[in-house]
Formats: sequence, C-alpha cells, structure tokens
Amino acid sequence: MQHYQMYIGGRWVEGSTGERFETIDPYTGKPWATIARGTEADAALAVETAHAAMRTGPWATMSASARGALLRRLGDAITENAKFLGEVETRDNGKLIAEMGLQVRYLPQFCYYYAGLADKIEGTVPPVERAGYFNYTRNEPIGVAVAITPWNSPLMLGVNKVATALAAGCAVVVKPSEFTSASTLELARLVEKVGFPPGVFNVVCGYGQDVGAALVRHPKTAKVSFTGSEHGGRTVYEAAARGFKSVTLELGGKSPNIVFDDANLDDAVKGAVSGIFAASGQTCIAGSRLLLHETIHDQFVERLLAYAKTARIGNPMLEDTQVGPVTTPPQYKKILDYIEVAKSEGAELVLGGGASDVGEWFVQPTIFTNVDNRMRIAQEEVFGPVLSVIKFRDQEEAIAIANDTMYGLAAGVWTQNIRRMFTMANAIEAGTVWVNTYRAASYTTPFGGYKNSGLGYESGVNAIRQYLKTKSVWINF
Ligand code: NAD
Repeated sequence: MQHYQMYIGGRWVEGSTGERFETIDPYTGKPWATIARGTEADAALAVETAHAAMRTGPWATMSASARGALLRRLGDAITENAKFLGEVETRDNGKLIAEMGLQVRYLPQFCYYYAGLADKIEGTVPPVERAGYFNYTRNEPIGVAVAITPWNSPLMLGVNKVATALAAGCAVVVKPSEFTSASTLELARLVEKVGFPPGVFNVVCGYGQDVGAALVRHPKTAKVSFTGSEHGGRTVYEAAARGFKSVTLELGGKSPNIVFDDANLDDAVKGAVSGIFAASGQTCIAGSRLLLHETIHDQFVERLLAYAKTARIGNPMLEDTQVGPVTTPPQYKKILDYIEVAKSEGAELVLGGGASDVGEWFVQPTIFTNVDNRMRIAQEEVFGPVLSVIKFRDQEEAIAIANDTMYGLAAGVWTQNIRRMFTMANAIEAGTVWVNTYRAASYTTPFGGYKNSGLGYESGVNAIRQYLKTKSVWINF
C-alpha cells in the first residue's frame, strides 16, 4: 500500500486533521494507496501560498523565457517518466494502459507548446486622440489559478491546465478528483524535481464539496478552470460568480456521430466503436448517439455488432485489452441504471446490457437500437459503454436530431460529399466537429463546449488569454 501526501508550498504535507482516504484499483476493487485528505484550512493555505509566490517569491520576478525553460524541463521530466505515470493512472482509474501509453507521450507537448508561448505574451500601444498622452497595455497573469479535474483523465486535463497557467505566469493549485489523486501527486514530484519555486504549483486532495468548494470561494483565487460534470460545473460557476472570478468550464456531452449513406462504412464503423467504447465510454467526447441514415441502418448495425462483439474485456494493464473497467462504484451503478431506463423506454437492446464478471466494476459494451432522441437514454450523459442508435431520413433531420440536446461538446460526421461536410460542420452546435474521423485532438487546437457543455476553451494559442488580464496604462507627458 502506498501513502501519498499533498504538495503545498513546496512541501509534502498531511491534511490539517491528519485524515486519509483510500484510492481503489477499479480492476481488483481493492485499495492500493491512501491519500492525505485536505480541509478548508489546507485549501486556504495552498491559495495563500500560491498568492504569496506570485508576489514575493522568485516567480514574481522571473523572466517569461525562464518560466518557459522551467516548463520545458517539466516536459522532459514527464517524457522520462511517461511509462510510470501511465501505469499509476491505469491503476487508479482503470483506463487502458494502451490508451494511457498514447496520452502520456502527448503530455510533454502541452509543456513545450505553452513554454514557447510564455515569452510571446505582448502588450499593445493603442493610438489615443489626446495630445500629450500615451497609452500602453500589459497582459498580466490573472492571479492564482485553481485547476479542478475529474477522474477520467486527471493527467491529460491537469497538465493542459497547469502548462497554460504557468506559461501565463500564474501560480496554480490543482484539486484532482477524490477517486484519482495519485497521478497528479506523481506529477508534483516531477515539478519539485525540475525546480519550480515553492508555492507555484500545489496539489490539494479531497472531496469536491468541501475542499474543492473552499478553493473556489477563497478570495485570493482569481481563476477557476474546472473539468467535470454539468452539475459540478454549475455549482462552481455559481460560487465563482459571487467572487467575480474568471471561470473556464469543460463539462459533459451527448455527442452525435452521424453516418450518411455515402460514407466509407469501414472507417465509420471503426469511428463509431472507438467513439463510444474507448475508456469504457467514460470520456466527455463519447459519441454516445449514433445517427444512421435509414438506407444503411441495418447493415451498419450488423457490422457494428460483429466488430463490438469481439472486443476483449479485462485487465486494463494488459496491452491488448480493448474494454476496461468502470472507474468508480457510483459510476458503475449509474450506467447499469441507465441501461434499465433505456429498456423501460422501449429502446431495443442488441448487445450487452449488463455487468461483466471479468473484474470488479465492468459493464458489457452495450448497444440499443430504435432509440428516439426524446428518450432519456438519448438526452442524458451516461458516461459508460452504452450506445444509442437513432435512424434518420435526410440531412435536415440529422441536423435537427444532432442539435436537439442541451449539450454541445463534439460531433462526428461521416460522408464523402464535400458540400455536405461543410454544411454539417456549420450547422452542428458543438465545440468540435470531426469529419471522417473521431477523437482527433491536438494541443494546438481549441477545445471547448457549446451550450451546457461549458464555457471557454483549452488548448491552442488563445487558451492562454484565459489566464491573463489586460491593464491599460495612461501617461501624461
Ligand atoms: P464531477 O463534477 O463529479 O467532479 C469533477 C471534479 O470537481 C472533482 O475533482 C470533484 O471533486 C470536483 N468537485 C465536485 N463538486 C465540486 C464543487 N462543488 N466545488 C469544487 N469542486 C467540485 O465530475 P466527475 O464525475 O469527476 O467527471 C465526469 C464528468 O466530467 C463527466 O460529465 C464528463 O463529461 C466530464 N468531463 C468533461 C471533459 C471536457 O473536457 N469537457 C473532460 C473530461 C470529463
């Protein structure tokens, strides 16, 4: 059993009450580590320490290029420890080691990319009409940034937020999910090793409603970047509004994956499978609504079943496993409950539909056909390996169904018709539209949600603006 402490002000510490909580391996269902539990007092200490580091420590006067150099060293350290970091996260949240292998190789790119932007944050000299006056603008770090992450991708989401915030010159406090704190604490070891000044990067662990909420409402928190559920996002947004804090929200989705009759069906089947079954469906971008043109519906479902039935379910630590466990017991129960909801709503179960006994919390890859978009199974985020198949007649109907959701995170479109590609990309209300692919991502491209899927963007050049504030300076000469 491993025992993790929190990382506050450059020191490894217990929580103020000395309490700990367990973190559980979702494959075995057994605890494998304990984590120091943070309290409101620890949250306050972390924010105050970060605030002080931005004012009086070496971070306050460090040049932008020196900040960038530190971030590059963090990228190198992540590269050197990539395999280990991936294994820790797989053990903690059950994501396939094969998927983690890809993710951890990608993590350093966030550091290198934002390191490159650190010394390109420029101000402007706007022309002013009054003679004898001069105006210039400065883009300054916004202040202490709190980064709150969910359990499905703590490293990927955490490193993205942290790299952007540090490049901007902020100090950060990360609050990982209570279900998956270990990989973020391993990241903190690397931050310590590469020599960031104390207080610039902090990790506080514990439950969202107490320590997470305390971080958000602390008066010295200037920015909250939250990734998690719609419910959590709303709570955080309301609390942040009381203190006029800047907020980025990356929330849930119910993404449509739309296949037209002129699509390359081999590619579309693969896209539909990876769209919903990667990470056992526990991804915000899961293509959980599969919209099929009526003329290809039956043959597509047949092909999908043939493909999905062969999926190897089991130990996420094995390279050839294709479907791993569900990360937490509440999530496991929620998915099984939704399967019952779909049955009771009249959706037709054609694959799976229950628990799998290969390990602790496993749900079979599940497919429902004859789904009506008004059913709960088509409207609510299941966050599991459950696909709803919906038939459509024509392009217009496909657009109407795709947009008939309170979410707007992502969408897939499969067609060979170039005019349709652009029409669909324009018409779909979502932050990301993939055409003839699904899940493509890059640290260089903005990622964010429309409607209830969130506010603001992460990744890409403009994301750094969310960690800056602009000051206008007037000089009367
Ligand atoms: P969650 O909202 O329950 O928790 C997310 C994080 O917020 C956790 O660290 C939790 O402790 C914390 N938290 C919860 N309530 C809080 C509060 N009142 N104040 C401060 N912090 C609080 O979400 P989850 O179950 O961990 O994650 C799954 C959800 O995340 C899904 O809805 C998924 O779609 C979403 N998600 C979105 C993206 C994206 O980029 N849009 C990426 C991954 C996951």
